[in-house]
Amino acid sequence: MNRIEFDVVVVGAGPAGITAAYLLAKEGLKVALIERGEFPGAKNVMGGQFYSYPMRDIIPEFWEAAPLERAVSEKQLWLLSRESKIGFSYKNPQFGAPPYNAFTVLRAKFDRWYAEKARQAGVVIIPETLVTGIIKKGTQVIGVKTGRENGEIYADVVVAADGVNSLLSKYAGLHGEIESRNVALAVKEIIELPQGVIEDRFQLEKGQGVTIEFMGEFLKGMVGTGFIYTNKTTLSVGIGCLLSDWVDNGVSPYDLIEDLKSHPVVRPLLQKGTVKEYLAHLIPEGGYRSLPPLYTDGMLVTGDAAMLVNGLHQEGSNLAIMSGKFAAETILEARKAGDYSARTLGAYKKKLDESFVIKDLKKYSNAMPLLENNRHFFSTYPRLLSDAADEFIRVDGVPKKKKQRMILKGIFKRRGIIGIIKDALSAWRIVK
Ligand SMILES: Cc1cc2nc3c(=O)[nH]c(=O)nc-3n(C[C@H](O)[C@H](O)[C@H](O)COP(=O)(O)OP(=O)(O)OC[C@H]3O[C@@H](n4cnc5c(N)ncnc54)[C@H](O)[C@@H]3O)c2cc1C
Repeated sequence: MNRIEFDVVVVGAGPAGITAAYLLAKEGLKVALIERGEFPGAKNVMGGQFYSYPMRDIIPEFWEAAPLERAVSEKQLWLLSRESKIGFSYKNPQFGAPPYNAFTVLRAKFDRWYAEKARQAGVVIIPETLVTGIIKKGTQVIGVKTGRENGEIYADVVVAADGVNSLLSKYAGLHGEIESRNVALAVKEIIELPQGVIEDRFQLEKGQGVTIEFMGEFLKGMVGTGFIYTNKTTLSVGIGCLLSDWVDNGVSPYDLIEDLKSHPVVRPLLQKGTVKEYLAHLIPEGGYRSLPPLYTDGMLVTGDAAMLVNGLHQEGSNLAIMSGKFAAETILEARKAGDYSARTLGAYKKKLDESFVIKDLKKYSNAMPLLENNRHFFSTYPRLLSDAADEFIRVDGVPKKKKQRMILKGIFKRRGIIGIIKDALSAWRIVK
């Protein structure tokens, strides 16, 4: 029987894999894109804000044709106490105009559209096919095994774009099981509401959207955030917390999302909405310190499979696209050199290192350990800030100077001067 051979096999049709496959096919290479889902996007979950950069370099003015939800013109952060909120907001209508900053997307629609672009460029998409192993000749990866009968597929080089908990990286011995403190479990509901209701309720111009991140007491001391993102006729509502925290605290994701939804200041935003879908997915949030080796002889690792997520800025899909682009560039260089060994493929890591991808992850390399060891940012401070606001805004005959003293006394009593200094230093070490 003839061997099935391609120039490149890409495993996983998310933003990383589709980008690599699309760019390589455009250069005339024979590319297979293998996806376990019924179609690209079928199994993919995101909050999600999809940043226009770097997608606009891959498909200029993609917003003219892509199935996008809303252009995000406002970002909000709400710190929730048990019954109130303090909110911060940045709104810029220019973010809602070309070249746009970010869009809300529903990945099942978006990935399907993007993969169709790749198919039109010549990529052979093989859906409903699980990759179950890699094929090696000595140290060189030369193909993949699939769950299909006689399903070996050979290639000069394999791109692992199979998402968080990448089986391909494990088969290649690049990393083992991800530690539960390096990964977040996110749960998300899609809640349907009429388009006009969403625009009135969130004070949006037609076609524009808002993202709201939540921190506070509803997290029960866990490291994580909640979110609401506005789509055209739905809201994406969810919570993501470190997997180790869910396990250690024994909190049910279902209960926590219900707590968020029934919070007195969140509830009115969701009123009369109908839950259409409930989804759960892991997010690799270990940051720079958790990066596995990103290449080996005959294989490159991209996107979530490579742990390329900037959790503090909710950036993952854009890093996945950047890595897919760098993988494609590196493969074209390797093809020219006729050498797919780690020595040549190492250029991929160099490209990532020199870009904002690794520079940003490096900048926040202290963030996860510091946040994990200091939970006050997620619960104590939202409470203290809202108590202070409550005291200061409430008119009850108490003189303002006395109120000021009461606020400071409350803060020092809850956290202490040493604690506050420590937290300020931690915050500085996270952002510096
Ligand atoms: C709840 C949530 C909210 C998020 N919010 C944001 C956000 O707002 N902004 C943002 O930029 N990022 C966000 N992210 C992160 C973002 O979704 C990811 O970083 C991004 O999807 C990574 O793309 P990828 O192509 O590497 O992997 P994925 O999109 O996970 O794609 C991997 C693909 O590989 C396939 N696959 C896996 N294993 C196999 C196998 N063995 N054989 C064949 N196919 C396989 C999967 O079915 C999937 O299609 C969020 C993630 C979650 C879970």
